[in-house]
Amino acid sequence: MATSVNPLQAAGSVQLLKGQKALVTGANSGIGLATAVALGRAGADVVVNYVAGADEAEKVVAQIKEFGVRAYAHEADVSNEEQVVGMVARMVEEFGTIDVMVANAGLQRDAHVTEMSLAEWQKVIDVNLTGQFLCAREAAKEFMRRGVVEEVSRSAGKIICMSSVHQIIPWSGHVNYASSKGGVGMLMQTLAQELAPHRIRVNAIAPGAIRTPINRDAWSTPEAEADLIRLIPYRRVGDPEDIANAVVAVASDLLDYMVGTTLYVDGGMTLFPGFATGG
Ligand code: NAD
Repeated sequence: MATSVNPLQAAGSVQLLKGQKALVTGANSGIGLATAVALGRAGADVVVNYVAGADEAEKVVAQIKEFGVRAYAHEADVSNEEQVVGMVARMVEEFGTIDVMVANAGLQRDAHVTEMSLAEWQKVIDVNLTGQFLCAREAAKEFMRRGVVEEVSRSAGKIICMSSVHQIIPWSGHVNYASSKGGVGMLMQTLAQELAPHRIRVNAIAPGAIRTPINRDAWSTPEAEADLIRLIPYRRVGDPEDIANAVVAVASDLLDYMVGTTLYVDGGMTLFPGFATGG
C-alpha cells in the first residue's frame, strides 16, 4: 500500500474540481475506485459506474459522500451502446450535465496467440476500446451541447482515457490487451484533434504496474513482486492513488493546455529498464 501520505489527501482543502460533475467507469475496484474517491475529494459530484459488485459500488458512493458532494452508483456495461447512452442521459438528468468522463473500465483475457479464442480477443477489444469510444462519444455530445461555463472550468469538458504502458510496450501473451491499449492511444489522439476546436480536452493516462486485482498474480507473492520490480526503475509497485492523483490534475484547469497527450505514470517502466546496465 501507499508508503507515505497522499499529498492531495494531506492538502485536504484543495478543491480543484469544485462544482464539476464526473463519471468514472469501472469505479468499484482498483484505479477506478481510487479515482472516484479522489474526484469527490477534489469537490466533484461523482457517478460510480460498475458492471458487477453493487455492494462495493455503494461503499464507494458512501465514501465519496463524506466529502459533502453528491454521488450515486450506476450499473452499466461500457461495451453496450444502449447502456452507455442511458448512463450519461441519467447523469444529465440527475446532475444537470457532465464535465469529466474517466473511461477507466478494462479487463484482461490472457492467452498465447495460438490459444486465444476469438471470444477472448473480442471481449477485450469490446470493453477496453469500444467501451471508451462509446463513453467518449456520449460525453462529447453533452460537452458540445452545453459549451464552456467559465465559472466551472476553462474547457467545455474533459475526457480521460485510461490507457497503459502497453499502449507502446508490446506484451507477449496479451495481444488482445496490448492491441486494445494501442488503439486507445490513437482513439484519444484522433478525438483530441477533432474535439479541441470545441474546447474539449481529450487525454490519456498510461499507468505502469499498479497494485490492483487486474494483475494480482504479478505482486501477490514476494517472488512475483521482486520480478515485477526489476521492470520498474523507481523500484516500487504503484498504488491506485498514484493514478487517481494524475486524473485529478489532468481533469483540472491546472492542466488546461494539455490536449491530446498521454501522461505515463509508471515509475519509469517505459525507460527500457533492460538497458539500465548496458545493452
Ligand atoms: P480492476 O480489475 O481492479 O478494475 C477494472 C474495473 O473495470 C472493475 O471495476 C471492473 O468491474 C470494470 N469493468 C470490467 N468490464 C467492464 C464493463 N464491461 N463495463 C463496466 N465496467 C467494467 O483493474 P484496474 O487495474 O483498476 O484497471 C483499471 C484500468 O486501468 C483498466 O483500463 C486497466 O487496463 C488499466 N491499467 C491498469 C494497470 C495496473 O497495473 N493495474 C496498468 C495499466 C493500465
